[in-house]
Amino acid sequence: MKVSLLDVNAQNLPLEAELTAAFTSVLRSGQFIMGPECDAIEKEIAAMVECKNGIGCSSGTDAILLALMALGIGPGDEVLVPTFTFFATAGCVARVGATPVFVDACPICFNIDTKKAAAKITAKTKAIIPVHLFGQAADMDAVMALAREHNLFVIEDGAQAIGAKYKGKPVGSIGHFGTYSFFPSKNLGGFGDGGFLVANDDVLTDRARLLRTHGSRPKYYHKFVGGNFRLDSLQAALLRVKLRRYDEYTKARQANAAYYTAKLSALPGVVAADPAHCKCASSQDAALAAAGAKIVLPTPYAHNDHIWNQYTLRVIGEGRRDALKKHLTNAGIGCEIYYPVTMDQQECFAYTSDWARSDCDTAHRLASEAISIPIFPELSDEQKDAVIAQIAAWL
Ligand SMILES: *Cc1c(COP(=O)(O)O)cnc(C)c1O
Repeated sequence: MKVSLLDVNAQNLPLEAELTAAFTSVLRSGQFIMGPECDAIEKEIAAMVECKNGIGCSSGTDAILLALMALGIGPGDEVLVPTFTFFATAGCVARVGATPVFVDACPICFNIDTKKAAAKITAKTKAIIPVHLFGQAADMDAVMALAREHNLFVIEDGAQAIGAKYKGKPVGSIGHFGTYSFFPSKNLGGFGDGGFLVANDDVLTDRARLLRTHGSRPKYYHKFVGGNFRLDSLQAALLRVKLRRYDEYTKARQANAAYYTAKLSALPGVVAADPAHCKCASSQDAALAAAGAKIVLPTPYAHNDHIWNQYTLRVIGEGRRDALKKHLTNAGIGCEIYYPVTMDQQECFAYTSDWARSDCDTAHRLASEAISIPIFPELSDEQKDAVIAQIAAWL
C-alpha cells in the first residue's frame, strides 16, 4: 500500500461544495482586497488563540517580517533564533538587516535550548524567536524569563502550531507577537500562501497593521516604509470553511500520533523519548545506549498540547536515517527530512560570526537523525499500519 506524506485532497475535496460557495460569494461581492471575510477571520483566529488582535498576512514568512519591522529591529541588532527550524525564521531577521544568532535544540522536543540561548545574549540582542516546531510549544516560561531579564522582544513562530498550547495557553498569545502560516502543509492549510499575526498590545498591533499596507494612513500618506503583506479576501473566505472544522483535524492528528506511539513502541529497538532528558543530549545518549535504541519516538511534554504538524522519529546511528528513508521511499511510504541542514550551516549565513562559534551539536545530530512520517488527519488505520509494517520490516 502506498501512503503519501500529505494528502490535501483528502481534506479539501469533501468540502468542495462549501468551498465553492465561499468562492462564489467573494466573486459576486467584487471585493478582493480586505473587507468582511478578512475582518471575520481576524476576529475568529484571534479568539481561537486567545489573543486580543489578529492581522491576516500574505504568508507566515511575511508575518514574521512584519513583527520584526513593527518592533523596529534592524541593522546592528541581534536576534536569537533556533538553528533547527525552517529557513523563514532566520531569513526574516537577515532581511530586516539584523543578525540572526543561532541557538542549539533540545533533543526531546527539538525546540530552542533556552539555557544555550542565555549564553548567546549580548548588549546587541533585541529579540528572541522561539519556534513551536512540529506542533509542540517551546519552553515559554524560560523564554519569557530570559526576555524579562534582558529586555528582549519575543516573536513566537507558530507556523507549525496554530492551536497548540503551552500550560493551557495557546502558542502565539504569550510573547509580544505570534505568527502562523496557512501554507498547504500546515495544520490549517490554505489554497496558496497565507499567514497570520497576533498581538495583545494595541500600539504594536496598530504599527503592524500600518506596515502591512505600505505604512499608509490615510491612504497615500505614508508614516513608515512598509510593504504589501495582506491576506487575500478569497483566501480568508476559503480558510474560514476549514477553520470551522479545525478542532476535528487536530483531534485526528493527535489520535494518529497516539496510534503510532502505541504500536511503534512495541517494536524491539524502538523507545519513546524521555522528557527527563530535556535539554540534555548526553544524559539521553547514555539512556538510549543502555536501552539499545535504534529509533526514538517523539514524546510531548505533559504541560504541552501537541498538535502534531509532524510526527518525527530520530534514527540512531551513522547513515541509518538515510537508510530508513530509502527503504520507506522504495516501499511507497511518504517521508521527509525536516530539516537536513541547520541554519548555522547554511551557505547564506556563512558571514555571521556564529558560523565559527556555533555550539549547536544537538541540532547538527538532529539534522542527521530526524525523519517525519505521514500524520495528516485523514490517514486510515490501514495506512498507519502500512507505515508501521515498513518500519518494522526495516528495523
Ligand atoms: C512554514 C513555516 C514558516 C513560513 O511560513 P510560509 O507561510 O510558508 O511563509 C515559518 N516558520 C516555520 C517554522 C515554518 O514551518
